[in-house]
Amino acid sequence: MAKAKTKARPRGKKYVYSFGGGKAEGRADMKELLGGKGANLAEMANLGIPVPAGFTITTEVCTYYYQHGRTYPPGLDKEVAAALEKVEKIMGAKFGDVENPLLVSVRSGARSSMPGMMETVLNVGLTSKTIPGLIARTRNERFVWDAYRRLIMMYADVVMEKAAGIEPEDGKGVRQELEHLMDATKKERGVTEDTALTTDDLKQLCEQFKAKVQEVLGKPFPDEPLAQLWGGIGAVFQSWNGKRAVAYRRIEKIPDDWGTAVNVQAMVFGNKGETSATGVGFTRDPATGRKIFYGEWLPNAQGEDVVAGIRTPLPVNEEGKTDHNRHLPSLETKMPDAYKQLNAVQRTLEKHYRDMLDIEFTIEEGRLWMLQCRVGKRNGVAAVKMAVDMCKEKLITKEEAVARVKPDALIQVLLPMVDPTAERGAKLLAKGLPAGPGGAHGMVVFTADEAARRGKELKEKVILVRNETSPEDVHGMHAAQAILTAKGGMTSHAALVARGWGKCCIVGCSALEIDTHNRTLRVAGKELKEGDWITLNGTAGAVYEGKLPLIDPDLEHNTEYLQLMKWVDQIRTMGVRTNADTPKDAARALQFGAEGIGLFRTEHMFYGEGSDQPLFLLRKMIASKTEEERRKALAELYPFMKEDIKKTLRVMAGKPVTIRLLDPPLHEFVPHEPARLQELAASLGIPMEELQKRAESLRESNPMMGHRGVRLGITYPEVSECQIRAILEATAELLTEGIKVLPEIMIPVTCTKTELDDQLVICKRVHDEVCAKFNLKKLPYLYGTMIEIPRAALTADKMAETAEFFSFGTNDLTQMGFGFSRDDIGGFVPDYLKKKILPDDPFQTIDQEGIGQLIDLGIQRGRKTRPQLKVGICGEHGGDPESVMFCHRVGMNYVSCSPFRVPIARLAAAHAALKEKSKKK
Ligand code: ADP
Ligand code: MG
Ligand code: MG
Repeated sequence: MAKAKTKARPRGKKYVYSFGGGKAEGRADMKELLGGKGANLAEMANLGIPVPAGFTITTEVCTYYYQHGRTYPPGLDKEVAAALEKVEKIMGAKFGDVENPLLVSVRSGARSSMPGMMETVLNVGLTSKTIPGLIARTRNERFVWDAYRRLIMMYADVVMEKAAGIEPEDGKGVRQELEHLMDATKKERGVTEDTALTTDDLKQLCEQFKAKVQEVLGKPFPDEPLAQLWGGIGAVFQSWNGKRAVAYRRIEKIPDDWGTAVNVQAMVFGNKGETSATGVGFTRDPATGRKIFYGEWLPNAQGEDVVAGIRTPLPVNEEGKTDHNRHLPSLETKMPDAYKQLNAVQRTLEKHYRDMLDIEFTIEEGRLWMLQCRVGKRNGVAAVKMAVDMCKEKLITKEEAVARVKPDALIQVLLPMVDPTAERGAKLLAKGLPAGPGGAHGMVVFTADEAARRGKELKEKVILVRNETSPEDVHGMHAAQAILTAKGGMTSHAALVARGWGKCCIVGCSALEIDTHNRTLRVAGKELKEGDWITLNGTAGAVYEGKLPLIDPDLEHNTEYLQLMKWVDQIRTMGVRTNADTPKDAARALQFGAEGIGLFRTEHMFYGEGSDQPLFLLRKMIASKTEEERRKALAELYPFMKEDIKKTLRVMAGKPVTIRLLDPPLHEFVPHEPARLQELAASLGIPMEELQKRAESLRESNPMMGHRGVRLGITYPEVSECQIRAILEATAELLTEGIKVLPEIMIPVTCTKTELDDQLVICKRVHDEVCAKFNLKKLPYLYGTMIEIPRAALTADKMAETAEFFSFGTNDLTQMGFGFSRDDIGGFVPDYLKKKILPDDPFQTIDQEGIGQLIDLGIQRGRKTRPQLKVGICGEHGGDPESVMFCHRVGMNYVSCSPFRVPIARLAAAHAALKEKSKKK
């Protein structure tokens, strides 16, 4: 056995893997080498599922190709020839044979699916010599010419234009040119469907196509089978570095050096007439997660037809019909035998893979062939439902169920929806297919560039409206609130991409008449212009005029979500708190499962509702010059402070609440309007000039590093005192009411232990005074600090001598660690990302390499001094799944994030725990 193997690969490296005829050299777990498609084709072949024979050229060839000036490894041609011979034997036809020609498809296959990125060429091997042979054998002349015109179109587009790096003007690509020819023929014949064209029409079209290819590209369409084959193979490798593929990898963070495999596979034909068909399906509904076989098909068609949205696809079965397509015939009724077999295959596959699969199939004259299977994309709602259902069906464990749901996908479960009451009365413009759930409103834009400009740069809410989308539109789709297309089905490009991102999306909305040129949209007797508001209900597929209000989902009744989160909480070991400044936010966060507040900012009371008076008093305090003045202002401010803190402590009864002492950028609070200044001067009893002088003196040249945080408490101890008293009195009052409260007093912007010592004296004194006042022995509270200055992290061992807890303020820690002003990064960080100077925006995902060290080291040094030191994180990173995983790894007790991201952080924490467990094994 071993001997035979060595013989088969003398160079020790095997570049080509065969499959078909009930067996294969590859397996599903060889995705790195064979790409997703190749590995799964091999797996299906091994399972005995009917798969047209073929072979996979490995990703290593792609790597070699780019490392060696776009050439192939020596001997590849021989391996390909040998593999092709095997295919010929199994399929009983010969590539390039004039009497019995074998046709093949050349298909790309990256490790993870990149929808629409890499191109596939079908019907390779048709030439002026093989055409007559195929006609004679199939006795189906129309089919052969149909196959040929498809080959010319795909080949010219993919191989001769795109892979050759030709970038035609918008609308001037060779594919469009050929499509115009075809449209013209259809118009001439007075037909709308491709299938209505006759043999002669197609034959003529092929001649026109070839002439056009020569005219547009200056080269003839190759009439030699092997030239076509290698042209196709080269094009797949070329397209790995095509603009669109690169752009997609950027967004999805797929490494450039992974490479793609190439699959060469015997063609089977869904376009041989009414007993032939092609289709795609999902083993469960990817939009809702319902356990039904969901799919779309077209009779007399080739694969791309269903996905391209040229013809409206039909429902695969009765069960999967919707109001939208109830009137259309299903495969189940039209070809019951083939359907039965297909249904059995999809069941087998789901059981085997233990996951929802996305499948592609073709029926050739009643005979079923499987062309692809892969783990299917699903939206967050469906992901949760499927995971929970599959666990209950005992297909997967609860750990797997939790691992299956991506933290970010949960956003869709928490997604806003269109307010149903508002929806009832709204003007319905059109209905389409519900490709991406949730609600969205935005202004209509017609091009991806405009969507990117307004959505990303101007931060406006826009909805990208297109006939259909293509990979060129990806940047605009990303920037839009939602995507709306006139054409395409649930498996169209727009639907796939939107689903991947969890974006609201409606496709196949055929009532839309889009005029991209004049930037108008005619629908339901209305004309909308760019910038007009529309609202989409992506769950129902409804498009409304105007800007309808959106509301939050009803989590309390989402049983699958609740079940999943129960498992999440059983699995995770790290706590999740929230950043909340108001009782309302706190209550919301509790519903989302927050276990405490990790950051309560006292200055919030000076911003929001009812902040007029406290703000005035704060200004008075800031503008005070003497301690006496300041104490007077603070005394007036005190009751507001205590009430504010007390309300939130009450909501969070029984749970820890970290209250940060004031950290206001002073100058921001100084009023500018003369009337306000006047009022303030009067209240302080000082003349205007004096006030203006004081205000001027507060101006700092670098307020970010100015007189803020603990520095304020050092220079004005009475400011700290007042706040600490507010916290502790609120605590005492609630305790006497019998409410359990656990405040944690947090000192911001510290850089040395001595600052903490200084403020601790105040804290202890106030504590004793409050105890005396309320006749209590001791108040439950912790005294700690934010770690947001590198020096504090470096001296964490010292800091922990005084601090009972740390909370890493990673926003500022990043700012000061990088020396990047948080308010000014817009000017350069985008270029850093584009040029790959930095992999991510460090303010969104913790820079583990640098800032991460400060955190890791800070925790270790802190715990050396105080082993029980409680450590958490506040700041936006607390809700970023990757950062949460990091926090778990470095041993934090909890992360804290905005209320809405609490479930996401809980799930990410569970993932972190699972990962750690699997590593220990
Ligand atoms: P993608 O990566 O975009 O999914 P595929 O390689 O799956 O591209 O090819 C696109 C379509 O072409 C598929 O839907 C499939 O139905 C069809 N196709 C590919 N290879 C063959 C084949 N050997 N016989 C028949 N149809 C094929
Ligand atoms: Mg494709
Ligand atoms: Mg496919």
